[in-house]
Amino acid sequence: MTPDHTAGESGDLHPWADPTLPPDRRAAMVLAAMTQAEKFGYLSAIKPWPEALRRQIVGSAGFFPGIPRLGIPAMQQSDASLGITNPGGVRRGDQATALPSSILLGATFNPELATETGALVGREARAKGLNVVLAGGANLMRDPRCGRNFEYISEDPLLTGVMVGHSIAGIQSQGVVSTIKHFLLNAQETGRPVVSSDLGETAMRESDLLAFQIGIEIGQPGSVMTSYNLVNGAWTAENPFLINTVLKGDWGYPGWVMSDWNGTHSSTASALAGLDAESGAEWASDQFFGAALVADVAAGRVPQSRIDDAVHRVLRSLFAIGVIDEPARAGEPIDVDAHAVTAQRAAEQGIVLLKNEDGILPIAGRVRRILVVGGNADQGVLAGGGSSQVTPFGSLQEPGLMICGENCPRTYHPSSPLAAIEAEALGVQVDYLDGGDVAAAAAAARAADLVVLFATEWRSEGLDAVGLTLPHAQDRLIDAVATAQPRTIVVLEIGGPVTMPWLAKVPAVLVAFYPGMGGGPAVGNVLFGDVNPSGRLPITFPASEAQLPRPLQRDPATTTSEPSEWRANPVFHVDYGIEGADVGYRWFERQGHTPLFPFGFGLSYTDFSFSGASVTPSGRGVLVALTVTNRGRRAGADVPQVYVGRPGADGFMHRLGGFRRVVLDAGEHRRVAIAVEPRMLARWDAGRQRFVIDGGRYTIRIGRHAADASLVLDVELEAAELGADVIS
Ligand code: BGC
Repeated sequence: MTPDHTAGESGDLHPWADPTLPPDRRAAMVLAAMTQAEKFGYLSAIKPWPEALRRQIVGSAGFFPGIPRLGIPAMQQSDASLGITNPGGVRRGDQATALPSSILLGATFNPELATETGALVGREARAKGLNVVLAGGANLMRDPRCGRNFEYISEDPLLTGVMVGHSIAGIQSQGVVSTIKHFLLNAQETGRPVVSSDLGETAMRESDLLAFQIGIEIGQPGSVMTSYNLVNGAWTAENPFLINTVLKGDWGYPGWVMSDWNGTHSSTASALAGLDAESGAEWASDQFFGAALVADVAAGRVPQSRIDDAVHRVLRSLFAIGVIDEPARAGEPIDVDAHAVTAQRAAEQGIVLLKNEDGILPIAGRVRRILVVGGNADQGVLAGGGSSQVTPFGSLQEPGLMICGENCPRTYHPSSPLAAIEAEALGVQVDYLDGGDVAAAAAAARAADLVVLFATEWRSEGLDAVGLTLPHAQDRLIDAVATAQPRTIVVLEIGGPVTMPWLAKVPAVLVAFYPGMGGGPAVGNVLFGDVNPSGRLPITFPASEAQLPRPLQRDPATTTSEPSEWRANPVFHVDYGIEGADVGYRWFERQGHTPLFPFGFGLSYTDFSFSGASVTPSGRGVLVALTVTNRGRRAGADVPQVYVGRPGADGFMHRLGGFRRVVLDAGEHRRVAIAVEPRMLARWDAGRQRFVIDGGRYTIRIGRHAADASLVLDVELEAAELGADVIS
């Protein structure tokens, strides 16, 4: 018999079992019935787990025991940004849908898809008996070389906030709590437990904080996870400005704040700064929210009300999201085939076509011999490494690195692009070479009619990319093959931008990022035109590192990326004030740099046009209307983007203010409206502690990427103040 969590051991219904009561009321009632030991059971792990409890652990990243006498289920926590993880195979024989990387989700510019893939994650979590997922990566990509960019959405606060918010809403629609993470400014992996990300308040409010603010408004995540790094000299898990002032104060965030795993460094300071729960203590030698916090309360250093507030926040999220009313039960059926289709469709929407000369793509016409080169394309598609990694059975694993004491292999999802190409190219001879022998690959390329060359770049948690160059001399391979065979199509499986010194030599480039377990067929479908590419870059691809705000990187050998080694390594500082709020494309505009490919860029096999554009002030924002026409002969999707700027000395660079993915049949046209988010028209006024729109003239660019100034309209706006907690 499955336990009934709404009833106590006696079987009587508890007063808080009434789902019509507000979550805060219900939480207050449970709190009043809890013992101090039960309360502390929510704040950190019990070390070591008593055997009876250990048997209840479903197995993944974290476990907090339930309180059966009060009808409260255990919290079973798992990573889930790209699908439900199974670290070290702890749940034997269990596997999950491996979704595309979040950077690819960002490239779809499709919030509905984020909701759909989020709901998929929520369903799979429930079916495994997991009820809190550590998803919602919302860090802005401030450094294109960051090892975890594949777990994040974009370099832009609006795109990131909207997409992550919808993803979280999708997860939580299944009665599973999602986090949003890592709060805040976890912009590089090198030295992550000891690096201080330094940035002034105004810039922070207009960029990294804004991404979280929008994500929280849309998704209402049950929990926020802090990051490993420090911000302006204070670890984020004990940073009163970030947690107490902004998150819980200005934004009125009602859920609980957990640290990252082994990312708590104090009891008193953390509790007083607003941290509610310490994560990962069961795996760590340190524990701060156990005996040390008990002692803090006994000595009056931390008031009991702070403990009660922390527990209340956990309970209120569990009630609000349905974890208590509809407990997850391991063994619920899952339509794995339908989920695999969703994963592949998601990949197909986020693959970005960067170059397509003379219509070489889609592959059609007289091709007799195709040579496929490199990237282990005969085996599968590359996945990013670290805690987010999902490993379907049959994945190819090569040596990777050790993170947090766990082996983290370089993994290829078992979804072979070569097999997909063979299936598409019936009657065509398809050969494969791994590319290890450059001369042999060039010779075979010469003899073929067409080459599809797969280049890969592995990124992982705990490991930043060194520079922007494709590793393992792949540039040399591409150059040699393209010199031998001008009809060479390059497919990039990458976790962030790379440079392309061979770009002029190849007619076509596709960016597949890490496309997940449906990646092989997704790439095949795009190459052969079953799918019309519609992805748009969610991050600027620089022409060189010299264009970056910080061209130089810290040598990882001089510090540590292991969270447990924070004591032994000195804190160092990274100055994000250089670009301030002008992250990514805004920095490029400010500096007058021409990137290799701009943010928002992506081609299609059809041809779209915009007409009849209008801009009108509307409420505190602006409403843009335009007609999008598909002038070509294939169905496809376009993504009109609205960038707003304010000319003048006290103005700002163009910022993405709104976007809309529009799917149109051949010849079809549609009138679309795009509402500009008011905060994108505003600046943070530190004195007034709120967003303020200055009266005056604004320029509105309606285009296909951040550098597209082909259609510019003006609008006159009246001065307005927006609340710090505005919900647009
Ligand atoms: C990562 C988090 C993750 C946690 C639990 C940490 O190393 O930074 O993103 O949720 O581990 O696995």
